[in-house]
Amino acid sequence: MRRKVIAPSVLAASLLLVIPASAASAGPGAPGIGDSYYPASGNGGYDVSHYDLRLQYQPKTDLLEGTATLLATAKQDLSRFNLDFGLKVSEIRVNGVKAKFATSGTQELEVTPAQPLQKGKEASVVVKYSGKPSEYKVDGWSAWQRTPDGGIAAQEPDSAAWWFPSNDHPLDKATFDVSVNVPDGTQAISNGVLQSQSSRLGWTRYNWRSNKPQATYLATLAVGKFDITTDKTASGLPVLNAYSKDLGDNAGAARASVERTTEVAEWLEGVFGPYPFNALGGYVPNVPSGFALETQTRPFYSPRQFANGANVSVVVHELAHQWYGDSVSVDNWKDIWVNEGFARYSQWLWSEKEGEGTAQELADWTYASRPAEDPFWQVKPGDPGAENQFHGAVYDRGAIAIQALRNEIGDEKFFKILKGWPTERAYGNAKVGDFVRYAEKISGKPLAQLFDTWLYTPGKPAFAPPATAAKGAGARSQAPAKPAAEPKSWKKIAATNNLHEH
Ligand SMILES: [Zn+2]
Repeated sequence: MRRKVIAPSVLAASLLLVIPASAASAGPGAPGIGDSYYPASGNGGYDVSHYDLRLQYQPKTDLLEGTATLLATAKQDLSRFNLDFGLKVSEIRVNGVKAKFATSGTQELEVTPAQPLQKGKEASVVVKYSGKPSEYKVDGWSAWQRTPDGGIAAQEPDSAAWWFPSNDHPLDKATFDVSVNVPDGTQAISNGVLQSQSSRLGWTRYNWRSNKPQATYLATLAVGKFDITTDKTASGLPVLNAYSKDLGDNAGAARASVERTTEVAEWLEGVFGPYPFNALGGYVPNVPSGFALETQTRPFYSPRQFANGANVSVVVHELAHQWYGDSVSVDNWKDIWVNEGFARYSQWLWSEKEGEGTAQELADWTYASRPAEDPFWQVKPGDPGAENQFHGAVYDRGAIAIQALRNEIGDEKFFKILKGWPTERAYGNAKVGDFVRYAEKISGKPLAQLFDTWLYTPGKPAFAPPATAAKGAGARSQAPAKPAAEPKSWKKIAATNNLHEH
């Protein structure tokens, strides 16, 4: 064996060739993931696969202390990368080694690891932090809701920055383990399955697991004093619902609605296919807000949703999102119709099933109740703009668009599409155009013009009556041009209209 001796000068020269080349290719990751409505949302250059959050929260002071461990894979050589976060960070380690960090903008945490991250390699990022989430404000606004006995993170499009560092955009989904330590007598609710709980020295720790990809805004944390009900579905899925102990007069109606979660999910499986996650449930904290949100496996409901008695329709809406929104998520926030049009339409289908007005009757009533000069018709559900992301038109005009599709292609193909789409795109992301192409593929009909009219053209479109009886199965022969009466379900569905108010 003959050893080749490399002269020091040659070695130095080759190092000069190698090291600067590698360092030159490692640049900083982008401070945003490329969302057209929210340029600062998410970050470029890496993808998170798992979040492990180990938290302690004291309701008396609103102090949240945490260690977040992120497993991330670099998509390019990275000399620096950003996280989205609002609380005070004390230390960051990347692959075990202390990293430098700085803050910028309203939510950017810039991390410079000691060694650049290599493209294609997984890195661990450990962030230690503490702070009072209610004191972190963006434009004077906080996603964190304080309650008399705790606090809640449940908001759209952002809430993660108030309680954990993340790549905060639906394009980067990950699995979650959330472990929360709270004073004895207080509960901590999050997504997925409650794996275990244990008490020690006056504190109780709750360990939650969400084992399917989950968008950061669909991760939720609720600390407070709750009554918890648990059950199993016929197929063995664990069900866990939680109700604040001080819901007052809304307590009965809240339970009479949310306790029907299993029944509603079973019905939705018939329409949308197999339920995509490992747990079911819902929770109603004692917040003053009025909205509800499809937090994954465990939707959040404001008590005010139940001020007029039970409202199963809102449960239908939030559970429909588990397929349309949570499993199949927006690619860009402008694709919000892919979530909200279908969640609203599911309420119409539930009404149809309950004999409280068919989807066609609800579409007719919705259409007739808005005169052509109503600014409602100027909002394009397929690209409503950030300021109108949760405008009523995204929901109502968005759902009429779906009824127009049903009338165009007939029930058989329509319901095949409703069920096929969540399987085709499970745990992924989709653009509005992806749905249009899928509907064309399954129906065998050109549909670009129909969707262009309903989703992208300002103004009140003509709403053709359903196809004549001679066409597709289930198509009705006539629709009332002017609906004779308000559908029975109308007011309950209207009461869910502020689902995403800020
Ligand atoms: Zn919704």
